[in-house]
Amino acid sequence: MDPRAVEVALPLPLQSTFTYRVPGGASLPGRGVRVLVPFGPRRVIGLVTGPATTVPETMKDVVEVLDEVPLAPPPLLDLAAWMSEHYLAAPGECYRLVLPPAGVRASRAVVRLRGGEPSDADPVLEALQAGPLPLSTLAKRMGRDPTARIARLRREGRVEVDQDLARPGFRQLRIAVLTPAAADVKPRGRAQAEVLGRLTAAAGRAAVPELLRDRPSLRGALDRLVEQGAIRIEEERALREPEMLAGPAKLRPEPTPDQESVLAPILAALGAGFAPFLLHGVTGSGKTEVYFRAIERTLEQGRSALLLVPEIALTPLLVRAAVGRLGRVVSVLHSELSAGERHDQWWRLREGEARVAIGARSAVFAPLTELGLVIVDEEHEGAYKQDESPRYHGRDVAVMRARLEGAVAVLGSATPSLESNHNAVSGKYHRLVLPRRIGSQGMARVDVVDRRQALKAGGDPILTPPLREALAERLARKEQALLLLNRRGYATSLLCRECGMQAMCPNCSVALTLHKGGRVALCHYCAYETSAPRACGSCKGEYLRLTGYGTEKVLEAVRVALPTARVERLDRDLAARRGAVARVLASFEAGETDILVGTQMIAKGHDFPRVTLVGVVDADVGLGLPDFRAAERTFQLLTQVAGRAGRADLPGEVILQSHLPDHYALQYACAQDYDAFYGREMEFRRTMAYPPAAALVNIVLRAKDSTEGAEAADVLATRLRAQARGNFRVLGPAFAPLARLRQEHRFQVLLKGRRKAMRDAVREALVDRYGDVRWPGVAVDVDPVTIM
Ligand code: ADP
Ligand code: ZN
Repeated sequence: MDPRAVEVALPLPLQSTFTYRVPGGASLPGRGVRVLVPFGPRRVIGLVTGPATTVPETMKDVVEVLDEVPLAPPPLLDLAAWMSEHYLAAPGECYRLVLPPAGVRASRAVVRLRGGEPSDADPVLEALQAGPLPLSTLAKRMGRDPTARIARLRREGRVEVDQDLARPGFRQLRIAVLTPAAADVKPRGRAQAEVLGRLTAAAGRAAVPELLRDRPSLRGALDRLVEQGAIRIEEERALREPEMLAGPAKLRPEPTPDQESVLAPILAALGAGFAPFLLHGVTGSGKTEVYFRAIERTLEQGRSALLLVPEIALTPLLVRAAVGRLGRVVSVLHSELSAGERHDQWWRLREGEARVAIGARSAVFAPLTELGLVIVDEEHEGAYKQDESPRYHGRDVAVMRARLEGAVAVLGSATPSLESNHNAVSGKYHRLVLPRRIGSQGMARVDVVDRRQALKAGGDPILTPPLREALAERLARKEQALLLLNRRGYATSLLCRECGMQAMCPNCSVALTLHKGGRVALCHYCAYETSAPRACGSCKGEYLRLTGYGTEKVLEAVRVALPTARVERLDRDLAARRGAVARVLASFEAGETDILVGTQMIAKGHDFPRVTLVGVVDADVGLGLPDFRAAERTFQLLTQVAGRAGRADLPGEVILQSHLPDHYALQYACAQDYDAFYGREMEFRRTMAYPPAAALVNIVLRAKDSTEGAEAADVLATRLRAQARGNFRVLGPAFAPLARLRQEHRFQVLLKGRRKAMRDAVREALVDRYGDVRWPGVAVDVDPVTIM
């Protein structure tokens, strides 16, 4: 084995790592260090994963070692390695997630002692007594990455780190400072007098761009004064900060007895190693305050905390409250951050300047050090699953990260996923319950309207009389209402009355949805868009009929029924416009909107005190889907949206319109009985061997040519069956529920059983990717949240 050979993960969708040789002279890069290597005709940046594990006959040389110490904290490297293994994902794609945003070069930080003698024998302080040292040298002397230790010493004010100038990528802000010598300098000319005057007015210190903003021509005079020594220029790191969301510093409410009782075990566990909790708190039970108190304690202990939310744009209140409460140590990893802002936030976290990271799924990789607490809010949300490679689940990765770093994990939800509740029931997680709402109001009253009756009576299919009356009542009382329909668009399909054909997407086996009042036809899967056809594509008939309806149509129906109401819509179509979601939510919060119509986006953790009515236009939308989570999702959505009604001191009411009023998902949602739903749903999962009763691996093969795809799927299924040995079952191959997508045919092989055996078998079955079978596109999804 060549001692100078290393294994390198490349940022490519390839299962394996590659072996390269480090030329003599260069020091051997450790795990996590980035290297520039040749790959085919290109040069790519890869990440060293460790010493070589194989001895290839020929080995190319590393072109350049880019870092002196690994940029990512070591536990995150372990996390990436675990993900690659667990999700059968390419190592390079996993490691890329824990690295700083692209475009950053090596760090050449220099650490120096600050002030007098160090008071205790700390290896870092000791090493620094002889003088300042580069971080990389410190790392070599200590034999490990000292970044976390240094971040702490820096917070304690015992060391200084000069790196801002050393690291390209940070924008430098030039500050003009009046020197004592200025008193002796006689300004020459009006321009110089002006500069000195401005600077004096600014108390002797101002950013140069600020100083010259309205008169750039003063620059010459400024330069002259710098030459004369009247002004000194200092450089400061200019953080590109996202617009700060901070509201007024919030009051810190005293925890209620319920909150006390769930906080006690969490606080006791902090600092004492890995401990996972499931916090099952009904909507409005005050989970947020529990999170904040736990974060505060974590910070007091000198550790950092991670708070994951399903989607930042939908939780502006939570984010604002967190920033108001915890202040500048918070870093909000918003998906709308510019590349520069993302870079700056990454380094703020890495260097310990920010100690709390808040963000969606990918924030689970925030480079916090000394992690003490990981919170996953609304842990049941499907948004935590990434639907492209690596297909990881943010919640599961969060728990694994907590485990690797000896931190406490808190998964919070009013409707826990079956997986998490199963873990709580089986004792793997500690279960904590907040059974009551804060304040005087109990849970909202829920009524079901049987739409079959209403339709027979010939009424409006969208707003049945009870719902319309309830809306009118709210309007009269100046209260607000939410109207949910989990389907966007104007109409769900366009049918030919003569031949019955439906307008289909040319690329997918999916009906086109009509938008913009029926003028535009859109595929929700591939985004194909066309103006609505005027004649049937099949028989050329001109009598076309719009059927089904989405949020756009609901908006229209409300405007017709209640012309004075101020109505707005919130769904993905709107979210495509930057800032639109925040605007609509803010106007609803401010009471400028009476009724908010929307998809599940309105069901998320908002806290609108004046909402006293929630109407669900069609509670059955998700139940018909061919997916094992259909009932779970419906139950969660209905329970969550019902939780938006009557949260302050006004009583709430919920009206569900349904064709299937007897379905158990609806029944238990109405009764707000989670445990009963869980029991009933677990029976189904056990009978059918679905998670959490069994693990799933879903494999989808995509091919332009349907015969090629079908043959490959057959080979794969046969190989997998040969290895099943009673550890798992192989279903298929079959057409995937979406049999055609983006002009590709899709075949599905579904495995149910023991996860490890399935993973090993899949790895083995796909191993000859370039051998006797030419695999078409293969997407392997371990622990899928959906098999559609
Ligand atoms: P959840 O996230 O569990 O749905 P929230 O955290 O949004 O619930 O809390 C619901 C409401 O109760 C919020 O308006 C919150 O400010 C308020 N609240 C939470 N804890 C307390 C408390 N200890 N005292 C008073 N009000 C509280
Ligand atoms: Zn399409």
